[in-house]
Amino acid sequence: MEKFDLVVIGSGPGGYVAAIRAAQLGYKTALIEKYNTLGGTCTNVGCIPTKALLDSTHHYADILTKFSKQGIEIQGVHLNFSQMYQRKEEVIQKNTQGLTFLMQKNKITTFYGIASFTSNTTLTVTTSEGEVTQIEATKIIIATGSKPATLPGVVLDKKRIISSTEALALKEQPKKLVIIGGGVIGVEMASIFNRIGSEVTIIEYAPSLLPTMDRELGKALHKILKKENIDILLEQSVYQVENLGDHVALKFRDNQGKEQQVEADYVLMAVGRRPYTTGLGLANTTVTLDSRGFIETNAQLQTNAPTIFAIGDVIGGAMLAHKAEEEAVFVVETINGQKPHIQYNHIPSVVYTWPEVASVGATEEELKQKNIAYQVGKFPFAANARARASMDTEGFVKVLVDPKYGEVLGVHLIGARAADLIAQAVVALEYEVTAKDMFSLSYAHPTFSEVFKDAYRLAFGQPSINI
Ligand code: FAD
Ligand code: NAD
Repeated sequence: MEKFDLVVIGSGPGGYVAAIRAAQLGYKTALIEKYNTLGGTCTNVGCIPTKALLDSTHHYADILTKFSKQGIEIQGVHLNFSQMYQRKEEVIQKNTQGLTFLMQKNKITTFYGIASFTSNTTLTVTTSEGEVTQIEATKIIIATGSKPATLPGVVLDKKRIISSTEALALKEQPKKLVIIGGGVIGVEMASIFNRIGSEVTIIEYAPSLLPTMDRELGKALHKILKKENIDILLEQSVYQVENLGDHVALKFRDNQGKEQQVEADYVLMAVGRRPYTTGLGLANTTVTLDSRGFIETNAQLQTNAPTIFAIGDVIGGAMLAHKAEEEAVFVVETINGQKPHIQYNHIPSVVYTWPEVASVGATEEELKQKNIAYQVGKFPFAANARARASMDTEGFVKVLVDPKYGEVLGVHLIGARAADLIAQAVVALEYEVTAKDMFSLSYAHPTFSEVFKDAYRLAFGQPSINI
């Protein structure tokens, strides 16, 4: 029996960050990963590969649609699909190798195999060759993540009816792709394939794209994606998807209740993800699950078993890599007797379409629902000098501030580099900076960040300098 102070199960952003923080605090630490590379969903089949493909296809689309306007004439542009996917593999490899190095640097023992509990403090690790190692630990952190969900009656056969995981490993470019779900994965995947010339349809159940974000963002993104020829069907309910060998047929009822059928090369299911606890042997512990299969934890992220904690996608909430990372540090420092905190409402969400979409804090819908008074400051990227210089004039920033003290309650933007711009808004929310303070700061000119300065002015009831 090998003994450790702390064992982490799963090497995604939750797991590897927890292992590193534990090692930094002097714990004898082990990390167990089922697959033969570290990094979990995010590094292998999530954040990193999608961003690699979004980046490649963004360059390609710019060449086709923006370069000649800028006086750059390129003849004979063509897409090498397999090279694009090969580069994505290389990006993944660099990241997973980096993680292996970090484990060695921090003297973390790494086991490759399936971890399965035998009690609240012991587990086995079974390798793909069937070798079994027994492990005992004072504390164990479950960070086993999530897997793609599907609809009742629709089997993800991974051939024609696929999830994001298979879409990131395609051998051929689809001529026609139907995506079920217009959430984050739906719009990012639609962007990748539409930009390289696939015919893309998004079928969404809700009345707007990105329905969990501030509604104005989904509406604005809808207009932009539609202009780029993505077909978007809202308020549709898919009830049958059938693999017909060389293509897929899909039936849904439209918002008038009429039955519709479409065919495609592939159907990509992007209707959310479910917690992953298969094979963990939780029945041998006192850990409990909620009705949706998420591991139940208290405010310390401790499960019903005092020795076992859980973090990341497997406990629910926002399924984001940086949320898992925050929880990782929180749990390890809590075990260490420190008093860390997580402000869940200040964790930003980003969608890597172009323009990007980013959000932190309360949405207008939430403030209305809670009867909280607010003032809106809204500024368009079209009135920003840097945006005009780079032909990135679509989108806006919307700041929501408290009318009495000017406290920033929520920031929502769609526009170029929104993914990076949102960091400033996180600081404003976390440290309760007022709108007045925010527009009194100096913003470098010309930068995209200047959209904030005008939006905060407007929210504070002052006239904008630029519109
Ligand atoms: P995971 O990353 O899922 O890792 C869990 C690990 O546990 C896996 O490696 C799994 O093999 C391992 N495991 C499971 N069971 C066992 C077991 N019994 N024994 C040993 N190992 C086990 N989030 C963002 O913040 N930004 C993005 O841009 C982004 N893009 C995404 C794009 C896609 C296509 C997808 C699918 C997701 C994306 N996400 C993004 C979400 C992000 O990937 C997840 O929120 C994040 O990976 C969750 O981290 P985690 O550590 O909880 O779990
Ligand atoms: P999601 O929850 O973002 O979107 C799912 C969408 O499917 C929703 O809009 C929902 O209304 C729709 N839907 C549900 N049932 C449907 C039906 N029957 N017919 C049509 N539409 C239906 O989930 P996702 O896009 O699958 O992503 C999974 C998780 O991964 C998310 O929690 C997300 O946070 C994370 N992720 C994050 C990023 C990022 O941070 N950039 C990127 C990709 C994924």
